[in-house]
Amino acid sequence: MTTSVAPWQNWAGNVLATPSERRAPTTVAEVSDVVTAAAERGDRVKCVGAGHSFTPAATTDGVLVSLDDLTGIESIVPTRDPAGRVDGADVTVWAGTRLHRLGPLLWDLGLAQQNLGDFAEQSLAGAVSTGTHGTGCGAQGLPATVVGLQLVTADGSVLSCSPTSHPEVFEAARLGIGALGIITKMTIRCVPAFALRAEERPWTLSAALQDLEGFARSADHAEFFWFPHTDAITVKRNTRLPGDTELRPVGRVRELVSDEFLSNEAFDALCRAATRRPALTPRLNRLASRALSARGFTDRSYRVFASPRRVRFREMEYAVPLGAASAVLRDLRDTIDRSGVVTPFPVEVRFAAADDVWMSTAHHRDVCYIAVHQYHRMDHTELFRLAESIFLASGGRPHWGKMHTRTAADLSTMVERFDDFVSVRDRLDPDRLFGNEYTERVLP
Ligand SMILES: Cc1cc2nc3c(=O)[nH]c(=O)nc-3n(C[C@H](O)[C@H](O)[C@H](O)COP(=O)(O)OP(=O)(O)OC[C@H]3O[C@@H](n4cnc5c(N)ncnc54)[C@H](O)[C@@H]3O)c2cc1C
Repeated sequence: MTTSVAPWQNWAGNVLATPSERRAPTTVAEVSDVVTAAAERGDRVKCVGAGHSFTPAATTDGVLVSLDDLTGIESIVPTRDPAGRVDGADVTVWAGTRLHRLGPLLWDLGLAQQNLGDFAEQSLAGAVSTGTHGTGCGAQGLPATVVGLQLVTADGSVLSCSPTSHPEVFEAARLGIGALGIITKMTIRCVPAFALRAEERPWTLSAALQDLEGFARSADHAEFFWFPHTDAITVKRNTRLPGDTELRPVGRVRELVSDEFLSNEAFDALCRAATRRPALTPRLNRLASRALSARGFTDRSYRVFASPRRVRFREMEYAVPLGAASAVLRDLRDTIDRSGVVTPFPVEVRFAAADDVWMSTAHHRDVCYIAVHQYHRMDHTELFRLAESIFLASGGRPHWGKMHTRTAADLSTMVERFDDFVSVRDRLDPDRLFGNEYTERVLP
């Protein structure tokens, strides 16, 4: 265990904290000791994953716990279809495992996570705890794939929960925003390893909006990036293929040009130019939209889902009902154009299937996720204020890990099973040992 204290900030640099202590336990017993000792001293405790939330979800003035030393796969239990054939496995993973490490570990076992976001630096527990999702009308977010978990609660005890053991704690802790305790391991339902054929091509927003649901259902995992102040979008469609499909990954040179240079270095230069001369942003966005030409490749699922993101930004993302999404995007486009606010960052549009996870943005409804971004050197306030008012008017729900201004009073009427979540929390953590500035805002 380490005990040195250093200030903490999240990836985006918009959340700072000064913990009183930092801990990196290596066993569940040590996690329990850290929690018990903090409770005795009257300190608060917060577990941090990779610090990739844009909200202050992981901040604390007390003990900051990292599970970076509690990683890897613990055990695997094959699952069977109704005919008795093996159709995947329930894999128990230590909570601090980063998603980019989990993908190759699972592949070597002939397995894969069912779906992933567009980025994989997050820890498994951190990603699940805020409702991280990818895209796909038939694909649910990460919390829906959790079938069991182990939690160290405020009195230091270790609780294993699942749909049949402490089911209410399980339901709440699948998307617990760090408020119920420290998750030490999670069991996730995995599928046989699969490849993805990726197709990327330029298109237009006006064409996509003519039949947005049709677009959403046009591939297993469809999404697009819209370049504000233009009609240009880049479409990404990923199709699932068997794991033994011959792979045709992006060539190294092409990868360097497209993913590394265009997505990161050249894009950063473009964002800096927009920061210096905001009026140039529409022209720069047209340039950026043309820079990425059509391409296709086939690779292991986890390599296709996620790509590196080195240009820092701030992000707000809401899940709006799928049927309302075209109108929301039209309104967003017109409002941005009228307002004069500019952003060099594309708006990301994704989809997800309804789930039954408490507090989930997709609880019992198919959704379209719309994410607005702002370069970290540019002011996001007005853009996010305008976007949020449009999202709210459509009945949208905010991503727990991305910027929003909602409070407990608002969320109690917007989020399904909010009251059930709060009563589990009241029971597990009456003294708010796992509270922080974020839970003080979003929970009663
Ligand atoms: C570049 C980038 C790309 C992203 N892409 C996507 C995307 O494609 N889809 C999407 O939905 N989101 C995306 N996000 C958001 C991100 O997935 C979430 O914010 C996620 O929570 C970050 O995981 P983390 O490990 O960094 O968690 P942190 O931000 O460190 O923590 C998040 C929450 O989880 C809690 N937590 C962490 N570990 C534990 C634990 N062991 N036990 C209990 N609670 C714990 C923390 O206390 C905190 O409340 C992206 C963010 C960035 C910066």
